[in-house]
Amino acid sequence: MEPFPTEAVGLLLDWYRYHARPLPWRENKDPYRVLVSEIMLQQTRAETVKPYFARFLDRLPTLADLAGCPEDVLLKLWEGLGYYSRVRNLQKAARAVMERYGGVIPADFDALLTLPGVGRYTAGAVASIAYDMPVPAVDGNVLRVVARLTGDSSDVMLASTKSAVEAALAPAVPTPGAGDFTQSLIELGALVCLPGEPACADCPVRLLCRAHREGREKELPVRGARTARRLEQMTVLVLLLPPDGDGEERVVIRRRPDGGLLGGLYEFPHIPGHPGGDGVAVHLGSLGLSPGEVTPLGPARHLFTHVEWQMEGYAVQLPPDSTLPEGWLAVRCGEIRTDYAIPSAFSAYRSVLFPNAARKKRNDGKSG
Ligand code: SF4
Repeated sequence: MEPFPTEAVGLLLDWYRYHARPLPWRENKDPYRVLVSEIMLQQTRAETVKPYFARFLDRLPTLADLAGCPEDVLLKLWEGLGYYSRVRNLQKAARAVMERYGGVIPADFDALLTLPGVGRYTAGAVASIAYDMPVPAVDGNVLRVVARLTGDSSDVMLASTKSAVEAALAPAVPTPGAGDFTQSLIELGALVCLPGEPACADCPVRLLCRAHREGREKELPVRGARTARRLEQMTVLVLLLPPDGDGEERVVIRRRPDGGLLGGLYEFPHIPGHPGGDGVAVHLGSLGLSPGEVTPLGPARHLFTHVEWQMEGYAVQLPPDSTLPEGWLAVRCGEIRTDYAIPSAFSAYRSVLFPNAARKKRNDGKSG
C-alpha cells in the first residue's frame, strides 16, 4: 500500500472543523462517553445511536454506574440496537477498569486492547479522541477513504489489508489533533466519500486522491465475497391471555438462554419451520395448551451477521387458566415496553401488541 499522503492531514483537519456534525458524544472528550459511543457506533448509524446514547448516559452517567447495572436494565437500555454482545462486553470492560485501573479508562493503547470487546479500532478511537494519542483507528469508513485516496486494490475484507491501512496511517496521525484527525476520516467516509456514490466534487482531498485521478473511485474499495448467511425458518407465536385483574391483556414470553445469539433477552416462543396455523394448534396442544383462535400475522425476515431468520407469525388466544410450560411468562403487554428487552428481530410481531403505535416495517431488519 502507498503511504498516506501527509498533505491530506491539514486539509482533513480544516474540513472537519467546519463540517463535523454536532453529535452528542462530541460535546466533550470524556473517555467514558467516547467508549460508550464507539461501542454503540459499531455496526450502527450515528442517527440511530443518538437517542440510545442520550438515554444510556442519562441512566448510567458514570463508568461505576455501568459496572453495577443489573443485566435486565442494561439489556433494556440496548433494546433495538442489536449486537447485544457489545453491551455485555461494555459492562465487562467497565468492571475491568474499576478493578484494574481504579475506575479510570487507561490512556494506553495496549491496555485498552485488553478490555473485553475492545478491538484495535475502538482502542485507537478512545486513545486518539479521549487522550489525543497518535494512534490510528481504522473502521469501515476509514478503510474506504484510505483505499481510494491511495488507489489501493487490496481486499478490504482481509485482516492483512486493515493492518496495512493502520501501518500507512500511523506516521501521519498528528498530535495534537489525533482525535480530530481520526474523526475527520470517519466523517469524510460518512458524509462525502460514500460507498456507492462518492461526492468527489465536495471532497477536501480530491486533488490528492489517486482513485479520483484515475476515475476508479467507484471500483474501490475491493471487497471479497462474504460467506452466505445460514437460513433458519421459524414460526413465532404471539400467545395472548385475557386481561387479568387490572384489565390489561397479557402475552407470553420467555428468556433466551445465556450465551449464544441474543442470549439473556426475552422473546416470543417459536417453533422450527413453517407448519402453518394447523401445525401451530397441534404443537400447542402437545404442550397441554388449548389454543383458541389462531390468526396469521404474516411473514417477516431478520438478518444477523451470519444467519437469516425467515419467520411466519401467528397470534393465538389462550384460555385465562392456561398452565404454561416451564420458563414461559405471562406478562402484561405494557410491561413489554418497560421491563423486558425484546430484540428487534421480533419487532414485526411485537408491534401487534401495540396496534395504536406506529407500526414498524415488517421486513429487512438487521442486527447481530
Ligand atoms: S476524491 Fe472522491 S474518492 Fe477520493 S477521497 Fe474524496 S470523495 Fe473519496
